[in-house]
Amino acid sequence: MIKEDCIFCKIAKGDIPSATIYESSDFKCILDVAPANKGHALIIPKEHSDNIYELDAEMAAKVFSFATIAARAIKEETGCDGLNIVQNNGEAAGQTVNHFHMHIIPRFKGDDVKVTWKQLETESEAQNELAKAIKKRL
Ligand code: 5GP
Ligand code: ZN
Repeated sequence: MIKEDCIFCKIAKGDIPSATIYESSDFKCILDVAPANKGHALIIPKEHSDNIYELDAEMAAKVFSFATIAARAIKEETGCDGLNIVQNNGEAAGQTVNHFHMHIIPRFKGDDVKVTWKQLETESEAQNELAKAIKKRL
């Protein structure tokens, strides 16, 4: 399904132009218009899902499978030293476009991109309980 007034549905359909790296019947891989670094790309399924909670597992497999191919090409072309895969869900996580997409962000030593967090302390019993509780919901 295409969602009205969704910018990524419009890009996926070709109604809004984009610097396109690759297109299949399932998804488009484009360059981000406001990149974190040169070569920052997005993989955008053509079918609208707001986020990972709604995404079909088969589509997720196709997106990640293509990410391996795109990552190698982007590394070769940009000469990046590293690369982050980022995928934001919900405003709290930094999602600004509510159409599922995966970021491929090339990284260069000393660049100013931040994909980091402060590490919390854990306690093994609580961790095991939490793991069990989450497992029940799978
Ligand atoms: P989010 O914050 O939702 O994970 O990422 C949205 C990304 O989409 C941002 O990095 C933003 O620069 C990119 N973006 C937003 N609008 C457009 C657009 O019209 N064209 C392209 N190529 N990228 C866009
Ligand atoms: Zn959409």
